[in-house]
Amino acid sequence: MPSIAPFGTAGSWFKGNLHTHTTQSDGELSPEEAVAWYRAHGYDFIALTDHWVYTPGRRISSDFITLSGAELHGEGYHLLALGLISLPDRALADDVQATVREVCTRGGLAFFAHPYWTGQRPSEMAPIRGLAGLEVYNAVCEEMQGLGYARVHWDELLGRGRRLLGLAVDDVHWRAEHNAQGKGFVMVKAERLEEGCLLESLAKGQFYASTGPRLEDLRLEWGEDGQAVLHAFCSPCRQITFYAHGPTGRRFTAPKGEWLDHACLPIKEEQVFLRVECQDDLGRIAWSNPLFVEDVLGAPKARHRPQESS
Ligand SMILES: [Zn+2]
Ligand SMILES: [Zn+2]
Repeated sequence: MPSIAPFGTAGSWFKGNLHTHTTQSDGELSPEEAVAWYRAHGYDFIALTDHWVYTPGRRISSDFITLSGAELHGEGYHLLALGLISLPDRALADDVQATVREVCTRGGLAFFAHPYWTGQRPSEMAPIRGLAGLEVYNAVCEEMQGLGYARVHWDELLGRGRRLLGLAVDDVHWRAEHNAQGKGFVMVKAERLEEGCLLESLAKGQFYASTGPRLEDLRLEWGEDGQAVLHAFCSPCRQITFYAHGPTGRRFTAPKGEWLDHACLPIKEEQVFLRVECQDDLGRIAWSNPLFVEDVLGAPKARHRPQESS
């Protein structure tokens, strides 16, 4: 049963928060204080992503780095920009496609930030090209207004064949009422703790997102009948859910007083994609990135072909 990337790939796991505000914009701690908090809480890296302020990445110590970043926004959207070499032209800010393109030409990765909080509809997001993904969980939007989860947005876009990755982030501003620090993080599998290595892994989807549980492994099994099966392994959880296009996924729930650390689901053409969520007894979740069914079974037949492809 071969493991799927990032579980089958070489490298080490590094924990990071990719959405952090400081006194450079509307955060209440300085960049140095923000770095100190995450270093003291077991993280390996963060990105400083102040509003329309570019912060280059740098090495803080042998075991902690920051990634280049900024949060960009214009009419109807916020964008988390990581790994870029300079800020896009703010005169283009109300043109989301132009801003995404500028992030990409500056070597960066662009993710839609907190789309539920922003009020973005999946149909508005679908035409935008060049996106790396979106925040499936944003801690401050969840803590303040219950608008932090974006799984419906993600699944709508994945079902249209858009290959988007999912981040969990804190979007911390260090205000007491937010209680956002240390909530949403990514676990990145990378060769070394260096900005270039981490960005390469992020771009390839060599990571999972979480608010607590560990995703231990994803494996593909081929039955004797030719049926492909996806196996998910995690730290002890209450539920393991396979999300797919439409109602073609499945949820597994542990019997009362017991735990689940493994579940599996046959892969079918009509699912278009499969992604896994593992939820623990505190309601915390680990999110895999999506597996596209056509990558496992081959190109879909015409009747199930996604409406668009990226
Ligand atoms: Zn924002
Ligand atoms: Zn933010």
